[in-house]
Formats: sequence, structure tokens, C-alpha cells
Amino acid sequence: MTVTGAIWREQLTSDQRAMLGRGAGTIANPRPDVLVIGGGILGVAVAASAHDAGLGSVQLVEAGRLGAGATGGATGLLIPEPHQWSDPETFVDMERASLERWRYLEQVTPGGLGLVELDWIGLAPDPGGLAAHQPENVEWLDAAKIAALVPGLAWHLGGALIRHQARVNPLRALVGLADGLPAVGTGVAATAVTIRGDRIESVTTSAGEISAGAVVFATGQPPVIDGLEIDIPADRVKGHLIVTEPASVHLPCTVAPVATPLEDGRLLAGGTFDYGDETAGHRPGSRSAQRVAYLWSFQDRDTQRAGHGPGDHPLDLRGQAAARGQGVERRPVRQPKRRGLEARAPSRGSSCGHQAAAG
Ligand SMILES: Cc1cc2nc3c(=O)[nH]c(=O)nc-3n(C[C@H](O)[C@H](O)[C@H](O)COP(=O)(O)OP(=O)(O)OC[C@H]3O[C@@H](n4cnc5c(N)ncnc54)[C@H](O)[C@@H]3O)c2cc1C
Repeated sequence: MTVTGAIWREQLTSDQRAMLGRGAGTIANPRPDVLVIGGGILGVAVAASAHDAGLGSVQLVEAGRLGAGATGGATGLLIPEPHQWSDPETFVDMERASLERWRYLEQVTPGGLGLVELDWIGLAPDPGGLAAHQPENVEWLDAAKIAALVPGLAWHLGGALIRHQARVNPLRALVGLADGLPAVGTGVAATAVTIRGDRIESVTTSAGEISAGAVVFATGQPPVIDGLEIDIPADRVKGHLIVTEPASVHLPCTVAPVATPLEDGRLLAGGTFDYGDETAGHRPGSRSAQRVAYLWSFQDRDTQRAGHGPGDHPLDLRGQAAARGQGVERRPVRQPKRRGLEARAPSRGSSCGHQAAAG
């Protein structure tokens, strides 16, 4: 097993990778109308929204590279419907609106954001295993139907099928959103603020002072900046995701809690919430390690049936850890003004065949 960085960076072109380090160490506009601090999905989406809404000049600063925080280590699933079983209704509604916005942005952003449509199956012992009631958009599949859709599955389980969810490569989405921003400074950390009255007069950064009309803190965690006295309840939770090498295991769509199939046959599992794990990297025994063990058993069965030993198809499992905010997965909502662009259809990703599902 090797423990390395995220799969997402590998999927980028060299130009896209270079975009993540745009404007290194520089501040193009020290007197912007809007200063956004933080180059994760929230910061980039807010900056792009402000720019598209015509709110004046926008400067974004990011201490590392774009996506250096939780965004670059996220699973990138945009799956509001399964959250019906875990999140309050208002939050699920926001996630649905967010997914619709992602679809809109996919269409209007030049080159797209890399949105991939997908169906989702959640395995459960019986229909009541997921919820007391089954929402309308959930189709219950018995164990025989699941076995037909997901050959080689070690468990004999039914499951809930939900169609029309999506995923992104978060870094690719960041590059697409940031592309239209004129002033992005990576490697620029905000270190202090000067406050006069109820206004932030200036922000000290590692690349100089910035005086902005408005300052947006999109730092993931509450900002730790000299002169800024704020008390926002927050917690750090570590998460993992795991990616295999291209595998012979075929998953027709996202199968929770197994994995999501990627374009090149890799399987992506996660992300997990590893509460209490304060270590910096991937740790044997964590929930992610348990997922590794599960994927191994899945792969073993598949390779045995195909007449190969597990060693013929080694799974090179890469663990990835990142800090994530407290228990809530936030997604940007953005209404851009980009005219004259042709509508693009989102790419069709992994879907569970209708016939088989209905069968
Ligand atoms: C393993 C894992 C899986 C996940 N899976 C999903 C998923 O499938 N779907 C989903 O919707 N969400 C998922 N999430 C959650 C999602 O990643 C986060 O909600 C989201 O990325 C938060 O974005 P953000 O921009 O608020 O924070 P971040 O991405 O953390 O960005 C904050 C940025 O601010 C910068 N910064 C901080 N302080 C300063 C400073 N003083 N000056 C300059 N820059 C600063 C940081 O370097 C960082 O780049 C997952 C998270 C993890 C860890």
C-alpha cells in the first residue's frame, strides 16, 4: 500500500495543474472591491459569483495552492438524495438546489466543470434498513436485482437505487470556476487585520497589504488571523478517501458503502469521518483501513472467479487524509452571468441500467 496525494490532481492536464498555483506570491489588485481569503470551493465560488454579479473588482488570496484544504481531498460526490436519511430536510433542499446549480454551471462555464452524472445504490438488509419510509424517488431493489447489477458482490443484500445524482473532480471544478477570475494570488496567506470602527481597514498578507471594500473569509476553519476576534464554534474531523488502481471489479454506479467507479476503472471509496483521529496521515486501523480490507475481499472474490489470484490484480490503495469542517458538507450556490455560451450536456457517468434495475 502506498499513501500519496489525491487522485484528483493526477486527472488534471498540466495546464490545469498550473492553474492551481496561479499568481504565486503576488497580489494583482491591492485595493479590490471584494477580497476573498481562501481558495477552496467556497472561496473560489464566492469570488466567481461576486465577479459574475458585477460587484466590482475581486482579489482572491490562498495560502497554499487552490484546493489545498479539504476541497482537494474531498470525494466530490454531489448526492443530495441519500442525505434524506441523515440530514434535516432544509439542508437536503439546499443540497438539491446546489446540485441544480452545479448542472447549470456545467453548462455555462467554458469547457465545463467536469460534472459527471451518476446513479447511487445504498446497500441495506431490507427497505426499513435505510428509513422507516421510502421517499418517492427511491427505488427498492431486492438482493437478486442487486446481484444482477453488481456481480461479484460479497454480500447478499438488497438496496435503494436513486438516480440522477452527480460527482466532480473538485480540483477540476475549481480550475473551471477560477478561470474567469482576473486576480488570484496563491501562496499568499492573510496574517493580520486592522479594524477601525466596524470595518476591516486593511488585511496584512505575506505578499503585502490589501485594502478592500468587503472581505470574505472562506478559510474552511474559522480564520486564525491577528486582530480578528471571532468566536465561531468549530470542530476538526479527519476524513479519508481511498482509490484503487484500475480494477477488474465492475461497479455499474456508486454502490455505498463499497465504492464509486471512476472513468479509468479505478474505484474510489470514502470519504469517511474519522472522529478522534488526530494523526496527520493515513493510519492502519482507521475506518479507511477497514474499507481497504472490505475492498480487498471484494476484489479477491472477483479475481478468484475470473481464474486469477489476487496477486495478478494488485490493488494499489492510496489513502488520503484531509481536515473537514464540522459534520456539514457545504456546497456553493452561485448564479453567474455568462452569456452567449452554448449549453453543454453533462457527461454521462456511471448509471445502473434501467432494464436490469427494473428487472
Ligand atoms: C475525505 C473528505 C471527503 C469529502 N467528501 C465530500 C463529498 O463527497 N461531497 C461534498 O460536498 N463534500 C465533501 N467533503 C467536504 C468538502 O470537502 C468541504 O465541505 C469543502 O471542501 C469545504 O470547502 P471550503 O472552501 O470551505 O474549505 P477548504 O477547502 O478547506 O478551503 C479553505 C482554504 O482557505 C485557505 N486558508 C486558510 N486560512 C488562510 C489564510 N489565513 N490566508 C489564505 N488562505 C487561507 C486554506 O489553505 C484552504 O485552501 C469531503 C471532505 C473530506 C475531507
